[in-house]
Amino acid sequence: MPRYEYRCRTCGATFELRRPMSQANAPTPCPQGHDDTVKLLSTVSVGGAASAAPAPAAGGGGGGCCGGGCCG
Ligand SMILES: [Zn+2]
Repeated sequence: MPRYEYRCRTCGATFELRRPMSQANAPTPCPQGHDDTVKLLSTVSVGGAASAAPAPAAGGGGGGCCGGGCCG
C-alpha cells in the first residue's frame, strides 16, 4: 500500500499515511484534528523542473569578456 505525505495548513504539521491509491486525494484530518490538509508529493519524480529553467541564462558560455580578464 503506498504511503502519502500530507501537510496541515492550519497548524503546519506534516504527517504520513498509508492508504489505497483510490483514497490518496481523499480529505485527511491532521493528527491535531484539522481538516484543512493538502497532499504532498512523496516522490522525486517531478523534482528539478524549476531549477532547470534559469540555468542556461545564468551561464556565460558565449561571451569571453569575463573569461579573458578584461572585466577586472
Ligand atoms: Zn493541523
